Amino acid sequence: MKALRLYGVKDLRLEEVDRPVPREGEVVLKVAAAGICATDLKAYNYGSRTKVPVTLGHEVAGVVVDAGKGREELLNKRVTLNPNIFCGSCFYCLRGEHVLCPKRYAIGIDVDGGFAEYMVVPAAAFSVGCVQEIPDWLSMEEAALVEPLSDCLRGQLKLGLSAGDSLAIFGAGPIGLMHLLLAKALGLSKIIMCEKSEARARFAERLGADHVVLLSEGVDVAKEVQRLTGGEGVDAVVVAVGVPDAQRDALRVVRPGGAVNYFAGLPAGVKGVEIDTNIIHYKQIRVLGTSMSTPVEFKKALDIVASGRVDLKQLISMRLPLIEGVNGFSEAQKLENLRVILNP
Ligand SMILES: [Zn+2]
Ligand SMILES: [Zn+2]
Repeated sequence: MKALRLYGVKDLRLEEVDRPVPREGEVVLKVAAAGICATDLKAYNYGSRTKVPVTLGHEVAGVVVDAGKGREELLNKRVTLNPNIFCGSCFYCLRGEHVLCPKRYAIGIDVDGGFAEYMVVPAAAFSVGCVQEIPDWLSMEEAALVEPLSDCLRGQLKLGLSAGDSLAIFGAGPIGLMHLLLAKALGLSKIIMCEKSEARARFAERLGADHVVLLSEGVDVAKEVQRLTGGEGVDAVVVAVGVPDAQRDALRVVRPGGAVNYFAGLPAGVKGVEIDTNIIHYKQIRVLGTSMSTPVEFKKALDIVASGRVDLKQLISMRLPLIEGVNGFSEAQKLENLRVILNP
């Protein structure tokens, strides 16, 4: 079978490898759709944090075509999965904070993933509820994008957002836009996107952002957000872009008593960001970070997409066959592209 494997920085190869065979408790999926995500691009541009070679791809949906002992009832089922595999029994898993599990590993990052014709789902994925059946009416490509949406859902739940709140989102890339769609579905009253690229800002408007602040020289984003919120500032901020200025500005645009989520990590090489902690102290704001999602957050995200309240198709800007995967990686880096989907 064909697989898109990362060997090192900018060294991605389409290879012929053996089709996997499931062991007891595992299944093999025929991959139908897999999204190229910023994490994949980071591994491609700066190196994977784990051993290579590895088949990338952690936003996947497929059909069970081979079932190991004990999983026979899953044959021919369409499934998607939380690619993070948790132990289910450690200090954190027991508290429902699976994402902090010290034994966690991820499909498509630590072990072979979905940029291949077939992929293995480890037995452990089933024991903590990471594998979900896809409803008939949902397309495979939408199901593949449940994974990043589930991360956004966790981010918004941890912020404590509720209907009627106002939110500023820094970055109108695919993840920032997913936050926008989700926040709209949650019933927020005002969503302000802060973005540098004019094209992406306009797209955010088309997707229903209430206001867009186009970040450029001479624009004071804090003043703009104040003006748009009657002088108050927003209830919460999601920083969906790995930019130090955005992390600092987030503290300035949030209202006293509000909350900020540093949702995007900083790129490799950026060592730290100087922030004025007095802002946190005097405004009495809550600053947090989230990444990944727990099994229940993943299931909820799937249910939201299945309900039709969040239409992820709008974020797919390109579909390519797996054999054009290397090209797909260069396409995914372009500003004009949102999600690129590979179809093995
Ligand atoms: Zn991802
Ligand atoms: Zn654990």
